[in-house]
Amino acid sequence: MSALLASSAIKSRNLQAVLLALLRHDQISRVRLSRLTGLSTTTITKLVGSLLEQGLVAEDDRDAPANGRRGVGRPQTALRLLPESRWVIGVHLDIDQARLALADLRARPVYTRRLALKPGASAEASLAAIAAAARALAAESGIDPARIIGLGAGVSGLVDPASGVNRFAPNLGWHDVPTAALLRQHTGLPVVVDNNVRAMALGEVMFGPARDVKTLAFVYARIGVGAGFTVGGQIYRGSGAGAGEIGHMTMIVDGGEVCRCGNTGCLETIFSEPALVRLAYQQAEREPGGLLARLLAEPGSRPIEQVFAAARQGDAAALALLHDRARYVGAALANVVNIFNPERIVLGGLFVQGADLLLPPIEQTVRARAFAHLGERVVVQTASFGGQAGMVGAAALALDAFFYRHELSAPI
Ligand SMILES: [Zn+2]
Repeated sequence: MSALLASSAIKSRNLQAVLLALLRHDQISRVRLSRLTGLSTTTITKLVGSLLEQGLVAEDDRDAPANGRRGVGRPQTALRLLPESRWVIGVHLDIDQARLALADLRARPVYTRRLALKPGASAEASLAAIAAAARALAAESGIDPARIIGLGAGVSGLVDPASGVNRFAPNLGWHDVPTAALLRQHTGLPVVVDNNVRAMALGEVMFGPARDVKTLAFVYARIGVGAGFTVGGQIYRGSGAGAGEIGHMTMIVDGGEVCRCGNTGCLETIFSEPALVRLAYQQAEREPGGLLARLLAEPGSRPIEQVFAAARQGDAAALALLHDRARYVGAALANVVNIFNPERIVLGGLFVQGADLLLPPIEQTVRARAFAHLGERVVVQTASFGGQAGMVGAAALALDAFFYRHELSAPI
């Protein structure tokens, strides 16, 4: 490595440490920054000077003593990140819809938009529609385009973040789609793409209450089931970017149902929105006068919501169905505990919607099935950002790549 490259790598690392410390503290002095990052006060003063110049931080004199001796720029003055000084666009791509957010430096989705995706549309057409929606969202917000530093997209399936290619997404019917390149071409923004559940895991550790958690498993279920692992605040992808495909963990070796991946007996065939709804309709046919059947026949709300509603109103068949299927999730998570030994498991999507019904059997099974005391130690909880987890996660991808861990080749 040349001396020039080495020095720019050090500068990048120093800047990253300062930005992450500013993210984690609402207010922080230069002295404290120096203590937390291990950098000299001279280096901190220089870096902070450049951040002030770029309008990314502000100095607060609110805590200054009344005698006014502590002037602006002195080491004890409180600094704070200005969250609205830069923005990113986060795109959460689900099977049937995309949710877009213009988010600030704390990943707060300030301006949002939902886009229904046309069933059967090509990947190229869907991505062009998403890019058009992103441009419209940016224009409507009135934010200076120069302050929008990039776009992050969380997409289902096997995504190679280095090339931005979605290798295989059975639920979308995508094969080798150059997702990042297409979004970049249509928006003109720097683009980062990763698996959507991994993005949610990153959102949780960067911006949620799990920010000090060293090892985290984020598990999301809706049409499919996936997991994202983080180690030391960063995504763990595995050797082929495939870590976390727990939806395709084999739960039944012989005679299981066929999964969209081509295999049989995968977790997704046992627990996912389509699997639960299919079972509920079968039950309703067996007992047409039951509460579950009556609720499922009501027009309007999604069938899965009616399954949860029936269980909450005491329908024995709905309760048994959810309890039984949640235990499989618990068994799969016990396997995750045995292999990865996370400090915390965070559950999103259906697990948030049906937390009161699903979490007790899941937790009980994890505790009972994981090896030795591993299951007792792990904290199991629901996701912090509820229905916004996907957008926050996608924004986190962009903030991580283009701001907090940005390589210092140009000003932010
Ligand atoms: Zn499968």
